[in-house]
Amino acid sequence: MVLINFYQGFFFVHDSMNLNTGVSIIPNRGKNMEVIPDVHMIEGITAHCYLIADSELILIDTGLPHQTQKILRYITNGLHRDPSELKTIFLTHADVDHIGNASELRSLTGAKIAAHPEDAEIITGAKERLMPKGGMSILLKLVRSVMRTKPFQVDLLVNDGDEIAGLRIIHLPGHTPGSIALYDSRRKTLFVGDALGYKRGDVQGPSEEMTMDLNKAYESIVKLTAFDFDVLLSGHGEPLQSAASVKVKEFLEKRTSPMKGS
Ligand SMILES: [Zn+2]
Repeated sequence: MVLINFYQGFFFVHDSMNLNTGVSIIPNRGKNMEVIPDVHMIEGITAHCYLIADSELILIDTGLPHQTQKILRYITNGLHRDPSELKTIFLTHADVDHIGNASELRSLTGAKIAAHPEDAEIITGAKERLMPKGGMSILLKLVRSVMRTKPFQVDLLVNDGDEIAGLRIIHLPGHTPGSIALYDSRRKTLFVGDALGYKRGDVQGPSEEMTMDLNKAYESIVKLTAFDFDVLLSGHGEPLQSAASVKVKEFLEKRTSPMKGS
C-alpha cells in the first residue's frame, strides 16, 4: 500500500507541477459516479475504470494493482449486482495503471480479459513496454521499474473493427503499439484509455513522456474523427460529457503538429 500511495502521490505531485504526464488525480479522490446512464466511473485507483452496467457488466481498464476489492465493492454495494455478472474486461493498453487488477478480477468473477494482440504480448511478458528515448523522468522510470504486474494471459484478442459486447474496437497505435479505444454507438460514447484526455476544460493529447510514438498517436487521434461521439471517457482527467467529437476536432485543428516535417 505504501508503494501505491507513493505511486499515486508521485502522479499527484507530477501533475500539480503541470507537466504533461497525461495523468491526473481529481481532487475529490475515491468518488465514484454514474457518468451517463449505466456507465460508471470508478475513480481514485489511477487510472479510472469504467463499468458499463447493461444486462451483463463490462469493465474497461482496472487501475493500479491491489484495488480489486474496491472494484468488486462498487459492483456489489454500488450497483447491487453480482460479481459473476462481470463478463468482459477490456484493457485499453498494457500500462500497469490500467491492467493492475485484471488477472485477480478474472479469477474472482470468471470474466474474460480482452486486449489488442500487440499489447497482449506486453501483458503476457512476451515483449517489453518500450518508452520514448529520453522521455521519462528518472523518478518515473524508478516507479515503473518497481510497479509491475505479474504477466498474465489474455483470453480475447481484439482487432480494429471488431464488435464485442456492443462495443466497436478502434486500434489506436502510438501511446503503445496495441492501444485501443472502445466505441459505444448506442450511447455515442468513446472510451479512449490514454490516447486522449480532458482536463480543466481542454482536450489533451497523450503524455509525451509515456508515448512510444507520438506521430502515430496523433494519426490515431485523427482516425477518431470519423466517429460521432458526445461523451469522451479517458484514463486520466475528467469526463467530457457533451459535443466531444467536435472538441477533439478543434483540438487537432489548434495543434501545431510535430509530425509534419519532423
Ligand atoms: Zn498509459
